[in-house]
Amino acid sequence: MTSAEITQIKVLLSTSKKIIIVPHKNPDGDAMGSTLALYHYLKSANHDAIVMAPNDYPHFLKWLPGDETVLKYEAETERCNTLLQDADIIFTLDFNALHRVGQMGDGIGDSQAIKIMIDHHQQPDDYAKFVFSDVSMSSTCEMVYLFIQMLGDENKVTADIATCLYTGIMTDTGSFRFSSTTSQTHEIVGKLIASGANNSDIHNAIYDTNSYAKLQLLGCALKNLKVIPELRTAYITLSQDELNQFDFKKGDTEGFVNYGLSLDNIIFAAIFIEHKKDNIIKISLRSKGDFSVNEFSRQYFEGGGHTNAAGGKSDLSLEETVEKFITILPDHKKELVS
Ligand code: 5GP
Ligand code: MN
Repeated sequence: MTSAEITQIKVLLSTSKKIIIVPHKNPDGDAMGSTLALYHYLKSANHDAIVMAPNDYPHFLKWLPGDETVLKYEAETERCNTLLQDADIIFTLDFNALHRVGQMGDGIGDSQAIKIMIDHHQQPDDYAKFVFSDVSMSSTCEMVYLFIQMLGDENKVTADIATCLYTGIMTDTGSFRFSSTTSQTHEIVGKLIASGANNSDIHNAIYDTNSYAKLQLLGCALKNLKVIPELRTAYITLSQDELNQFDFKKGDTEGFVNYGLSLDNIIFAAIFIEHKKDNIIKISLRSKGDFSVNEFSRQYFEGGGHTNAAGGKSDLSLEETVEKFITILPDHKKELVS
């Protein structure tokens, strides 16, 4: 983002505006943390700001400050469409293309509001007037901190803003261990703690509030884990029946895919989860090093994301999807075993 653009945004925000802030569908910690942090920042600058999520999100994010104000497009579509049409500014956070918000994308595309994208995913689409896109960033939350800093308001980071931003940085970096974590990330995290983010409480609220059923579902997933050592790949399946058996709730499978990657010598991990209601298999892919799961997902599974973390889907059955995956893998042997 150029300094001329920052100046334009400062002018734009110098008078009170109607602002909608949008995370991607099935929002994660970074999506909700970044949108709610921006919400608190804009509210304190006297804007009429609202976070509008395409759909609901997991229980472990529901304690975030400001959670009770979030509108869900899926539940209140008509009201949300009116608000989108009336907005002066729409911020889109933690996604790179309007199809990532599902049906809500039409409402955003049709709105005359000035659009501002803040995101760290690869290959951003060209729908926003202002684009702050940086694929080297650990998280959109790190970028929202930088955005507030660029606007000259670093001293306006309250405990609520800090709590939201810390949450997103922590979740998107796997608690500061992924290679996207830089010294800058740690510097910002340090400032967030100084501004009132309670790191220990936040970690506890996100990671230590599991239900017994969720841990049993994890046990089932780990039982289903398959390893292809010669291709340094591991994958997990979960059928709809298995999800039902363990009382699956949104967000319960978050992080399961990483267990495959924790195996010695494995650099590519996948999880295939059957969603009978939508008739799709939802796929999460993770890698270590140069093997791009973003490219892999774009090529075979209608998805995308980052080099080392991506998602996608398949319209085939669970068995057929796994079959397709196993058949494709040898074509990538060079990249996987190099
Ligand atoms: P997850 O596997 O946790 O759902 O997603 C991993 C990363 O890939 C996230 O950054 C997410 O935004 C992105 N991602 C997940 N599903 C999709 C998808 O269907 N399309 C695209 N373009 N990105 C996705
Ligand atoms: Mn993110």
